[in-house]
Amino acid sequence: MDKSLLQHLPKMDVLLTHPALTAAQDSLPYHALRDGARLALDSLRQAVLDGALTALPTADQIAADAVRRAELACRPHLRPVINGTGVVLHTNLGRAPLGETAANAVYQAARGYSNLEYEIAAGRRGSRFSHVDGLLCSLTGAQSALVVNNNAAAVFLMLSALAAGKKVAISRGELVEIGGSFRIPDIMARSGALLVEVGTTNKTHLDDYRRAVEEQGAEILLKVHTSNFQIIGFTQEVPIEALTALGRELRVPVFHDLGSGALFRRTELAVPHGPTVEDSVAAGADVVCFSGDKLLGGPQAGIVIGGKSYLDRMRQDQFARVVRIDKLTLAALEATLRCYQDSALAAQRIPTLAMLTTTPEELKLQAQRQRDRLEERFGSFCAFTIAPDSGEVGGGSLPGVPLPTWVVELSPRALSAGALEQRLRGWTTPIVGRVRREQYVLDPRTLTEEDWAEIMRALASVFSAGQPV
Ligand SMILES: *Cc1c(COP(=O)(O)O)cnc(C)c1O
Repeated sequence: MDKSLLQHLPKMDVLLTHPALTAAQDSLPYHALRDGARLALDSLRQAVLDGALTALPTADQIAADAVRRAELACRPHLRPVINGTGVVLHTNLGRAPLGETAANAVYQAARGYSNLEYEIAAGRRGSRFSHVDGLLCSLTGAQSALVVNNNAAAVFLMLSALAAGKKVAISRGELVEIGGSFRIPDIMARSGALLVEVGTTNKTHLDDYRRAVEEQGAEILLKVHTSNFQIIGFTQEVPIEALTALGRELRVPVFHDLGSGALFRRTELAVPHGPTVEDSVAAGADVVCFSGDKLLGGPQAGIVIGGKSYLDRMRQDQFARVVRIDKLTLAALEATLRCYQDSALAAQRIPTLAMLTTTPEELKLQAQRQRDRLEERFGSFCAFTIAPDSGEVGGGSLPGVPLPTWVVELSPRALSAGALEQRLRGWTTPIVGRVRREQYVLDPRTLTEEDWAEIMRALASVFSAGQPV
């Protein structure tokens, strides 16, 4: 260790007057630059003490390091990332991205006042729900509609407003955990609903529900979509149509938590989907709830549709205020719902639907084209191939439904696939891909042309550090 190096470290106040730092004051707060300078000096001092340095960097290099540290500290924590996983509704990456129309609507609502709770024609107080209620009713054929913060809130509001103190029959195969700490039996207990378990884990028959009503006094039938898992083998569940028919016969209401809730009509879009909202409404379910940011492709929201008397009770419940939807979400939701009024528009303007309707043939062409571009630029550093693969919808939607795709595989020569993954994840706009069998894999399904351009820049930086092999 050469302790004399310590004496040559620049003093803090001198470093702060370096032109790089004074120039950076135009764009960064002074305290961040001061902290950056301190951290840069601390790390040099530590490196000297550890014997890791035989000579000090130049004053310019130290100043640049200080600015870089200040920039890092000032960078927003919530940032865009590039999703190369092919998982369209990636829960960790924010589920459904909004289209331009919806994003612009959020921008407009965000930057000024709006008629959020104001009736323009009458010049008096209005309702925040008025912006999407009509749209939801006309799109789904439902009598009444209500939107809240997310579908978990919708389920809880539905149970606490309509089922508290009542016996609710639900199949043992549908007592699911949605994720995090949202478990149907616990949520029911919290809401005050009384759980009546029906059938077995793998099989539930219509007669099981009948007995629950006739012998155990169940007053509501609840169906919950088993969104994030699949029971295979010797199984049986009661379809919503049969359950609502039984409900009508026995005069008990049927509630349906659809989970993902595809809003498009079955015949209109060739998107892989589970039960659609249309199916549930056509079957006559009394209250149906689903997410705004799963297959619907909108913002995080919980949508409830159904009979007016039920929804009025939900609207009047104290808890409705707790889970109230905000104006930015409403703006995004209204714009997204408007796209559904024309199915051709929906497929184009809602990124989730666009990504899910891209065919394997188109994806193969995209993968091929990007592979060729990558090969041409970085062929000496890395081998690029394409291969058929199977993706997934994600977001706890449609488990086990394969999404055939074509991926670009990167096999870097001088570093491991894991090291490449780490470098790309650390890029200015983090790139999230997959490592599979010693290859780094990118799925074009979730990547835009702009994303590929950014991936090119990131790879240029990664490979410029090494020599061609
Ligand atoms: C996803 C899901 C929920 C929760 O919806 P969020 O919008 O994520 O709150 C509730 N029920 C089912 C069946 C789901 O699939």
